[in-house]
Amino acid sequence: MKIPKGFRFGGVAAGLKPVRRDLALVVSDHPAAAAGVFTQNRAAAAPVQDARTRVPAEGMRAILANSGNANALTGPAGLDDVTVIRSAVADALGIQKRAVLTASTGVIGARLPAMKIVTALPGLVEQLGDHPDLAAEAIMTTDTRPKMAAREVVLGGKTAVISAICKGSGMLAPQLATTLCLVVTDAAVSPAALQEALARAVRKTLNMVTVDGETSTNDTVYLLANGLAGNPRIHEAGADLDRFETALADLLGEMARAMAADGEGATKMVEVVVSGAPGEEAARDCARSIASSPLVKAALFGADPNWGRILSTVGARAGVRGWAIDPFKARVALQGVTVFAGGVPVEFDREALRCRMRESRIDVNVALADGEALAIAWGCDLSYDYVKINADYTSLIVQREDGGVAKDDRVANYSPAFKRALLVEALKYIAAFSGQVAVIKYGGAAMVKESLKEAFAEDVTLLKRVGLKPVVVHGGAPEITKTLEKLGERSEFVDGLRITDAQSLPVVEMVLTGKVNQELVALLNVRNAGAVGLSGKDGKLLRARKAVHESGRDLGHVGEVVEVNREFLKMFLDGGYVPVISPIGLSDGGAGLSINADEVAAAIAVATGASKLIYLTDVAGILESSPDGALVRQLTAPDLARRVEAGAITGGMKWKAHSILTALRGGVPRVHVLDGRQPHTVIAELFTDRGVGSLITSE
Ligand code: ADP
Ligand code: MG
Repeated sequence: MKIPKGFRFGGVAAGLKPVRRDLALVVSDHPAAAAGVFTQNRAAAAPVQDARTRVPAEGMRAILANSGNANALTGPAGLDDVTVIRSAVADALGIQKRAVLTASTGVIGARLPAMKIVTALPGLVEQLGDHPDLAAEAIMTTDTRPKMAAREVVLGGKTAVISAICKGSGMLAPQLATTLCLVVTDAAVSPAALQEALARAVRKTLNMVTVDGETSTNDTVYLLANGLAGNPRIHEAGADLDRFETALADLLGEMARAMAADGEGATKMVEVVVSGAPGEEAARDCARSIASSPLVKAALFGADPNWGRILSTVGARAGVRGWAIDPFKARVALQGVTVFAGGVPVEFDREALRCRMRESRIDVNVALADGEALAIAWGCDLSYDYVKINADYTSLIVQREDGGVAKDDRVANYSPAFKRALLVEALKYIAAFSGQVAVIKYGGAAMVKESLKEAFAEDVTLLKRVGLKPVVVHGGAPEITKTLEKLGERSEFVDGLRITDAQSLPVVEMVLTGKVNQELVALLNVRNAGAVGLSGKDGKLLRARKAVHESGRDLGHVGEVVEVNREFLKMFLDGGYVPVISPIGLSDGGAGLSINADEVAAAIAVATGASKLIYLTDVAGILESSPDGALVRQLTAPDLARRVEAGAITGGMKWKAHSILTALRGGVPRVHVLDGRQPHTVIAELFTDRGVGSLITSE
């Protein structure tokens, strides 16, 4: 990501949260003009009270933001704590106290342990560098991923960069700015012009996001401009300020969508476009009201094309606010499918639309016939998880002696009804699966991201504990490519198969068997999963022969499975071990052959008589079309074959499709393709009624 000149970032764990990073620092090496937009909540947090009278202003140098504690409603001590922190930041950086802004987010009503922040500052200053990643991570609360982006804009012949980090999630509503968003730019802009541009850009973007209609005590957007891009300073309205504002709004628009998509418990993002409204305020009000209606949101969660709730919301706003809107003249569309027009419901293919509403983004379009104004709002669906996250939030918070807080997130602490439902549902499956073999192909993001690796290891361990016999087959393509690149070799692929010459074979083996496999085994065995690392060479587990590509092209040391040594595997399974297999086969001549891991997983599943074969990958499952078609929840072997034939399944998924068909033909009753980018998908698929990915059966 591009970052503007003269800014440095850092993020550390100060102990406000149990383990994660919770303290972010953004520093401008030169005095910067500053602007800010704050919450309208009258119970504003102490950092907001401190900062809102001090911007817009010249000469700002640093923003310190913490998560884990909102420093809100903590009495007079709250402002004292802000002062202590500002002084400490000023000392640590050798700048003036008035050049420091702060922001907080987290639990309301717990005193901020300012000394923890003071203690962590030297380490944070030490760490300052030109990547905003750690700072973006440190301001997260219930966000599941950091949010950052940048834009470039040419001003007076000079290229300036604007970059932003933000956090969203719950308590996010449109009355005001948003939660925390720290924007920095090297453009030269006066504080007044900066404030104007920020306020206008926020109005169209962050102010149009709604996750739950709540208005937080801490919402803050800061914008620092240090002028190092060297453009003639922008003081007033004009072409340059317009260009700057357009780029800023574009950037904040991306942040707004990212926040909506990652709302608490959200499974999908919704974009509501209301056009043809009698005025801008009416358009904004209708768009936001639709995006924040609990009924609309619940229907979106269920992929239910219940458009009546949408139009009803418009009618309600028109009545309550007195907008000159005639809802009977509106045209309503969901995912581009018109559902109401000309004053009457329009016939549509309900099943097809339901299917499209399972996509991760929902488009709601309301075209009114009452004027010219248009507004766009972003939101998310309302899921069971929103309630789960928020029902017990403060009851789960434990205040620790050192002033920090921890979350006691054990299921035991949730409401009895929730626990009962969850356990009954899960136990049913646990009983049914006991003693059966499940082969899991481990690939994609689940193999790369630290938290996902942990979640995967936990899942496999848990499966074993409840009596399932897991077998893990892993890939390692990205890691191999990286290592080959380091050695100065380029990877060439034919139909998703890496051409493996004599030189790269040892590298492939080293990475798969020597590294990926061993790391996974270690991760599992820390949890006492009883994992045993195997390559296909061990015990002649995978007898293989050289594969010939249909084009006749020589792929080098690439193989296909001839035979699986099932007795050997059975020995481990009977002994209660979890085999972790790297996709290397052994030729009759004794050479190693690299085999596609999808194929290995299928062969192993057939050989072990597995009752489940699970592919963890980087997409939601099998899609109608790649990359953004709807998820196909359930399909049969002939259906899958037809889709491959029709060209709707390509690339890496084509390999999986072939492997899935092989497995089904070989007697594996159920194959799942799951989204490995979400934590614990394996458990969610196996132990709950509502599966999460695609399920493929013979018929
Ligand atoms: P893995 O690392 O899990 O083996 P691959 O990249 O080999 O992942 O295979 C999954 C990829 O297949 C997807 O990321 C997507 O780009 C591609 N693909 C092609 N067609 C489809 C489809 N119809 N549904 C899902 N994914 C598809
Ligand atoms: Mg693949």
